[in-house]
Amino acid sequence: MRDWPVWTLRRPALCYWLFIDFAALATVTYVIVSTDTPSPSEIGRFAAIAGTAGAVIIGSSIYSHRLGETERNPWAAHLCYLTAGILALPPNLMVLLLFGPALHCLLAQRPETYRWLYTLSATTLAVFATRYLLGWVDPRAHLLMMVFGATVLLTLRAALIAYGLKLRNPSATFEENVGEPIDVILGVVAVSIGGLMGCVAENNAVHALIAGPALALLERAAQLPQWRRSAQRDAKTGLANAVHWDSRARYELTKGADRTRPMAVMLLDLDHFKRVNDEVGHLAGDAALAAVSLLLRGTVRGGDLVGRFGGEEFVVLLPDATPEQAESVAERVRQAVADLRVPTMATDGKPHELSGLTVSIGVATTTRFGYELPDLLVAADAALLAAKAYGRNLVSMA
Ligand code: GH3
Ligand code: MG
Ligand code: MG
Repeated sequence: MRDWPVWTLRRPALCYWLFIDFAALATVTYVIVSTDTPSPSEIGRFAAIAGTAGAVIIGSSIYSHRLGETERNPWAAHLCYLTAGILALPPNLMVLLLFGPALHCLLAQRPETYRWLYTLSATTLAVFATRYLLGWVDPRAHLLMMVFGATVLLTLRAALIAYGLKLRNPSATFEENVGEPIDVILGVVAVSIGGLMGCVAENNAVHALIAGPALALLERAAQLPQWRRSAQRDAKTGLANAVHWDSRARYELTKGADRTRPMAVMLLDLDHFKRVNDEVGHLAGDAALAAVSLLLRGTVRGGDLVGRFGGEEFVVLLPDATPEQAESVAERVRQAVADLRVPTMATDGKPHELSGLTVSIGVATTTRFGYELPDLLVAADAALLAAKAYGRNLVSMA
């Protein structure tokens, strides 16, 4: 128990996460002891909702697993049938629905069980708070109240989770805490389908089946964030890939041209990188590329656009940077790469610390070359070649 990863949380985060877990446990206990035994028709509704959702989720998991597909946002489907439960089931049967995400965690063997448990606890609190607002005994299912309930459910759940994530990592971005816009859309779609499922199941339990195909489509759509990430990012470094960087950079440059903001493009090429591969192996080379990427992201500002241009070449767009500022950023990066130490494994399998990496950098600014990306890249490339010719480990301004 002492080596549980949950204890590695910062103290404020640990206190908050445990508070949420205990609050959820207390709520569930209260619900179980205070709700009457469900009637046969309520049990029928539960069976129809849980059966439809279970069949779709298990079917979709088997399908994805067989195709070796990437992870999906697992909470979209769970939110869907929990919403149906809020509208159509007594509170103690809603507790049984919460076994769905719990079982998911066990079966999928999620690496961070305590994090899943925390998300489940926050979801539990949001679900019962929504039920309370809609009517504990007999929830009101007219449209306005349903929209209100859906808003409360999604907002409260997101706020409870985001606050805990912020405590865990204060430097995390808003998007890392709350999710990308596509995650928000998935949440809205999930509660909408769940709302339909709950309404039809109220009148006739078997009608819950009607939500099956929509839920199956939601499961497919829940992979969109992963698909988008793998289409836009370079797998080895996690940076924007060349195509994505190009389109983002063009967009930023257009914005910059309108406002005549000074901007700069920085092209970087690691020096004698072939030697790293030849001497310590390609896996160590890959580790060095990942370490340089991390360093780049940490050294430039949040709004700067870092991409992997090619093999051991990186590219950065610096919006709002004068030529002097761009030169000093490039110099900072050059120095940081020279100081970098990367723990890796040599070809003989022994641990090896890679050091002595250097980088040559070419910088082109809009002040001299305008706001057309090809012009800036050609100029930065020429400056980079000049830095290589002058002996490497240098910054050269075009
Ligand atoms: P220079 O200082 O002139 O840039 O020398 P260099 O050896 O870095 O340049 P060159 O272009 O000759 O070689 C680049 C090397 O980068 C070739 C390739 O082995 C290595 N490389 C490119 N992409 C990857 C990658 O994804 N992983 C690894 N491990 N190595 C890569
Ligand atoms: Mg190169
Ligand atoms: Mg090189």
